[in-house]
Amino acid sequence: MSDPPFDDRDGWIWFDGELKPWREARVHVLTHAMHYASAVFEGQRAYGGTIFALDSHSRRLVRSAELLGFAIPWSVEAISEACYQTLAANGLDDAYVRPIAWRGSEQMGVAASRSRIHLAIACWAWGAYFGDEALERGLRLDISPWRRPAPHTAPTESKAAGLYMICTLAKHRAADRGYDDALMLDWRGQVAEATGANIFFVKDGALHTPTPDCFLNGITRQTVIRLARARGIEVIERAIWPEELEGFEQCFLTGSAAEVTPVGVIGPWRFEVGALARQMMADYRGHVRGHRPNV
Ligand code: PMP
Repeated sequence: MSDPPFDDRDGWIWFDGELKPWREARVHVLTHAMHYASAVFEGQRAYGGTIFALDSHSRRLVRSAELLGFAIPWSVEAISEACYQTLAANGLDDAYVRPIAWRGSEQMGVAASRSRIHLAIACWAWGAYFGDEALERGLRLDISPWRRPAPHTAPTESKAAGLYMICTLAKHRAADRGYDDALMLDWRGQVAEATGANIFFVKDGALHTPTPDCFLNGITRQTVIRLARARGIEVIERAIWPEELEGFEQCFLTGSAAEVTPVGVIGPWRFEVGALARQMMADYRGHVRGHRPNV
């Protein structure tokens, strides 16, 4: 049996300050966000009742909205508190939590200065983003023809809904071609990230990861860098060109939903699901559950 659609489930959704029955958390069809993508969102996971890096996510949500020119009428603290209320209302300890803020339906047309700003928070149980099997065999990534836009083309530091249009295109094309996900290059042709996660490579015992100058500097990415450095592993943030993929031994993705997921294939290149990738998976898993990794 397939999962029920996301608008037809039991539970509670925090909506503009109150908890609404899940099926009643609705918006009008003439909502600015739907026509002009004026929406920003977050995605974070709760582990054993604690939402990992919650304040960083709430801060990024507020900042994402600012980058789109609107102010969320709740503070970072209030947003974090509302995330816990939502989790408790749904009786969940291990869950994915999805806050979203958007411009409402007061005004139609590109201009939106009179639009009301809304905030909603949902949560649901969500296992491994790419499935359990991918954690063993490693993901197969296509190389997308869509490139991450330049910072002067789009507000690339914002987790803005509009920036995901090319991610969905890339992901669908990858699936049609038999892959799990896609590697996206940036506007210069450098390696950037996957459709919803950052990327790391292993070479000679060191981690190499692209400098996040036109895509999200993921909270998971920053956590993994800290965990690796705490183990004395060298982490090099730099421009990475696709030609270099040939010389990397291992590869993995990082993201709040994806956690740490190994990559086995990118287009014509093969990577081993090796010891260092497995170490970072284990360290991250321990860290988010509050167990200190064995460093
Ligand atoms: N890049 C994209 C496009 C993403 O959607 C995500 C997930 N939010 C990330 C990177 C990783 O960010 P984080 O580790 O903060 O979840």
